[in-house]
Amino acid sequence: MTDVSDTTTPSEPPATPADGAAPLLRVRDLEKVFPIKKGLLRRTVAHVRAVDGVSFDIARGEVLGLVGESGSGKSTTGRLLLRLIEPTGGSIELEGKELRDLEGEELRAVRCDMQMVFQDPYSSLDPLAPVADIVGEPFQVHFNMPRKERDEKVVKLLEQVGLSAQHLRRFPAEFSGGQRQRIAVARALALEPKLIVADEPVSALDMSTQSQVVNLLSDLRERLGVALLFIAHDLSIVHHASDRIAVMYLGGIVEVGDADDVYSHPCHPYSEALISAAPVPDPVVERSRRRIVLEGDPPSPLDPPSGCRYHPRCAYAMDICSQVAPEPTPTLAGGEVACHLHTSGPALAGRPLAELSGVTTHEPG
Ligand code: SF4
Repeated sequence: MTDVSDTTTPSEPPATPADGAAPLLRVRDLEKVFPIKKGLLRRTVAHVRAVDGVSFDIARGEVLGLVGESGSGKSTTGRLLLRLIEPTGGSIELEGKELRDLEGEELRAVRCDMQMVFQDPYSSLDPLAPVADIVGEPFQVHFNMPRKERDEKVVKLLEQVGLSAQHLRRFPAEFSGGQRQRIAVARALALEPKLIVADEPVSALDMSTQSQVVNLLSDLRERLGVALLFIAHDLSIVHHASDRIAVMYLGGIVEVGDADDVYSHPCHPYSEALISAAPVPDPVVERSRRRIVLEGDPPSPLDPPSGCRYHPRCAYAMDICSQVAPEPTPTLAGGEVACHLHTSGPALAGRPLAELSGVTTHEPG
């Protein structure tokens, strides 16, 4: 019998990279529970399941976009991968090696293969350090490299991100937001990582600079073969930057699939609403689109809704939705979706939502 208190927690991988090769990164049932403490004795009075049974793979050189509203758990997921915060459950394998088993030197060594670019290029760079020291820090920390050799390597990295040797002795305050993010990317590339977790890397930047940084990341992927987990709340940006997209809601992945498929033919009502909220530069397409207003804020993860966590905001909700958590089911396009519409409802059976409503979304631009 189904436990009606279940929540939306797909336990199987939503999708795997298409070529069948062993993934670079394999994440299974990842969990992070934060205790809420109160009072003088700091007693635990509740728990927040910030990340609740998240599973996905990333192939070598692949860009996986992780998208969702603020509070969906996407940034926590990124930090868990690098063990900047400790998971409370699940598995994280990089090239078959379980990262949760590593400590000390072994963990430090594997962190060279996984780097992070943070959201705010204004606070993530030391304002008192010149670019040579910021970008060269990994060479100093890991190899104790002499200054001259370090500077030569830093210049090469700066050139890879569109800066040059003339920027070597400058300080962060002398750069624009986009240039600072380029410096952060150069630092992340220093140790030739296999995977970069880019946590909202463009959301603090203006629109024109956003596309420059997205193009830079795409270009680096092409040239260096580095894989990316691209975390953002704007699905249109994630779509342009990614091979596949995973959509997160309240700690769980609700849909994953090829980036163009998810963006142009979403199968989950939440993906559809996120796409509807994203602006489209073509005014003709923009006028013809149906807007789906996401009512209110996401519910508190302290007290998540029963059944499908999205049901209080879902325009398609049925009786079953508040009682039983939907299991992930394959989409016809090769992804996965967790929604009763595909199984026990009108039985879309993996077909896009548009086939249910007669609504067509826009084609990928
Ligand atoms: Fe969740 Fe039901 Fe809406 Fe699907 S139709 S997203 S299961 S509330």
